[in-house]
Amino acid sequence: MLSWQKRLIMLQRKFDEVVKKHFPDAMDAKDTSIHYLGKMKNEHNLDVSKVLMATSVCSDDINIPSTTFFNVLFGPFIMGGLGGLPFVGQTGMTAYAHHIPDQGSAFIFYGPHIGVTIDGDLGKMYRPRQENPGNSCGALMLALSRFQGSNDYKPVLNDDDYQQMKLEESLLPYKDEVLKSENPQKAITEATYDIIDKKIHEYLKTCKGEFSVDKVTLLGGIIINTDYGLDDYFVAKNFEVIDLKSL
Ligand SMILES: [Zn+2]
Repeated sequence: MLSWQKRLIMLQRKFDEVVKKHFPDAMDAKDTSIHYLGKMKNEHNLDVSKVLMATSVCSDDINIPSTTFFNVLFGPFIMGGLGGLPFVGQTGMTAYAHHIPDQGSAFIFYGPHIGVTIDGDLGKMYRPRQENPGNSCGALMLALSRFQGSNDYKPVLNDDDYQQMKLEESLLPYKDEVLKSENPQKAITEATYDIIDKKIHEYLKTCKGEFSVDKVTLLGGIIINTDYGLDDYFVAKNFEVIDLKSL
């Protein structure tokens, strides 16, 4: 084996340790897709050849590899904006519902993301061809720095920075808990997961009449970004197959 291949494997193993120290249940993105597509097919009898995927993950380019692991599915319909919040709202959920293949089903993959460096720093990552580490998720780390900067900080909703301000407004109820936490970077990411999870469930409920299919599969969690060229990881927090008739 060539030395660069060995180095890559060693680096991937090291990342595996670093990621699992912070998130013991994390699986790499490829295992995640195999595991959950298998569950959909084998435990829920879903025909994965007729699934339209929607994503509600942050706009950040670094998340593309994590979502393309599901590329056997149609889509994605992109619901997420900064932080991963489903900014497309009820209109987006309705449009998505209308696009699902006949006799098919829906799969929504959602959640915030957080970078990690080889030294174990959460909230940071080395991006492609950049020498210094940068923030990941940038939107969440910006919100965190504003919360840490002033106790009275209040986001002001405006047309020109709508998503960031709305994200920060949604995070305000979690602010004290986040700031008191041992690891605020992780805590703000987990708070954002809660916000996205609630919104997805809420829009499904209000838009359930728009779906021509009965089953919607949800896979929500946290995407963990490692170095460029290495696998990302995912910690699943919610996997459920919802029968829309029961909502
Ligand atoms: Zn982000």
